Formats: sequence, C-alpha cells, structure tokens
Amino acid sequence: MIWLIGVYLVLVIALPLALSALVSYRTLPRGVTCPLCRGETFAVCARWLRWASRMVRRGTLVRRWCPACRWEGVVRQQVLPGAPRVRPPRREPRPER
Ligand SMILES: [Zn+2]
Repeated sequence: MIWLIGVYLVLVIALPLALSALVSYRTLPRGVTCPLCRGETFAVCARWLRWASRMVRRGTLVRRWCPACRWEGVVRQQVLPGAPRVRPPRREPRPER
C-alpha cells in the first residue's frame, strides 16, 4: 500500500514539477543581450539563482537588467567546456555608517 502512495506522489507532485521546471528552463532567453531590444544587459545579484544554477549542468542562470528598455529577467548562459563557470556578482556587504 505504501508504494501506491509513493507512486501517487511522484505522478501528481514530482513529475509535474519536474516537467514544469524543464519547460520553463527551455523557454529562457540565452546570452547577455536583451531579448526585447538586443541592447547590452547587466547582471543583477540574485541569490536563489545561484542555488538554482547548481542544478543546471551546462549553463548558468543569471538575472539581467537592460537599461535601455528596463527589461529585467533571467537568462541562461552557456558554459563552454573547460571554461570556468561564470557566476553572478556577489552582493558586497554595506559599509557601516
Ligand atoms: Zn532592452
């Protein structure tokens, strides 16, 4: 009986979550240019993306911001074989006042 509950949980919860994450990842824009205006974008610090990037083998998830059209979103950047993984910049601690 317990295996039936396990199968049910996998089919109802784990499998839809995994498929949703896979489809969402595949639809993310690639590269460092803005998907709307093709302008240059800048990396923005996002801690949860650092955690999520560990699960992606061939890429890094980076939050980016476009100053021209104010687009902000997550892109995936490919990591070339042998190249060091590019991480988003770490947030520096604020100076004491
Ligand atoms: Zn833009």
